[in-house]
Amino acid sequence: MFTQDDQLAEARARLLAERAEVLKELEQLNARLEVKGDYELGEGDPMIYQWELNLALRERAELGLYGRCERCGKPIEPERLAVLTHTTVCSQCAQRRR
Ligand SMILES: [Zn+2]
Repeated sequence: MFTQDDQLAEARARLLAERAEVLKELEQLNARLEVKGDYELGEGDPMIYQWELNLALRERAELGLYGRCERCGKPIEPERLAVLTHTTVCSQCAQRRR
């Protein structure tokens, strides 16, 4: 019988393993970009930026530390998080503040 803690620990271990894989891919990509020289792909290349952003968001969301409304417990809208990266409440609760 799984307790909630067991399930959480298991989910975390799995996500950390996945994350390591993604980080490895990212490293390889960065290495390739360095070899290629930065005159072709300037820093702030939108693809890379988007990838890193996704990785960061995903990491936090999947580890359950991020993206959940602290008031109603529902996931915060991705559009809202994109603008208010550190918000801890969803837009509905933000409107109903107090
Ligand atoms: Zn809420």
